[in-house]
Amino acid sequence: MNNNDSGRPSYSHSYSSDSLIQPKSLVDMLAAHSFIKVAAITDHDSVRGCRATVELAAPYPDILIIPGVEISTTKGDILVLGTEELPPKPWTPETVVDYGKSIDAVTVVAHPFREYGMGELARKYNVDAIEVLNGNSSTAANNEAKALAKSMDLPGTAGSDAHQVSELFSVHAKIEANLNVQSVLKAIRKGSLIAQSTKG
Ligand SMILES: [Zn+2]
Repeated sequence: MNNNDSGRPSYSHSYSSDSLIQPKSLVDMLAAHSFIKVAAITDHDSVRGCRATVELAAPYPDILIIPGVEISTTKGDILVLGTEELPPKPWTPETVVDYGKSIDAVTVVAHPFREYGMGELARKYNVDAIEVLNGNSSTAANNEAKALAKSMDLPGTAGSDAHQVSELFSVHAKIEANLNVQSVLKAIRKGSLIAQSTKG
């Protein structure tokens, strides 16, 4: 695997009170993994795990942490990839999407057809992508998400939605990008990624 062909498990919850994954465990697992080398940290409504994880990963030239957050908006969960700050409140889909645009982050509708997902309402918002493969969603819910992304002509991302170490890397997206945050975000926006489950 080279830097132009990095796989990544997106959206690992690594630090918040709802997660049992320590930043060091995630970094160690990325460093050891044969092809998943990029992870997005998206705790619920918190960015406090991001900086520590980014710093822990810094000594490793072949892994990358994308700082982010999963915001519980008034209409459902939205992931913001590429931020170490929280969007300003109130957390409506519009304010979160506008915040993402203002800082060149990527906004993704998380697990649209599961609890706390926004379902078909996603069509109303100017998001960058739809999470089409969520490690904690049913196949039916993921298939509906895929259909939604297709009909909106938006890229589809993958997220393990891991809350414990055993759930990490259950799914990932193969991305054509260089190993830096801006390059990965750009590739997601362009749709240069393939969401897939991680075998073995
Ligand atoms: Zn969620």
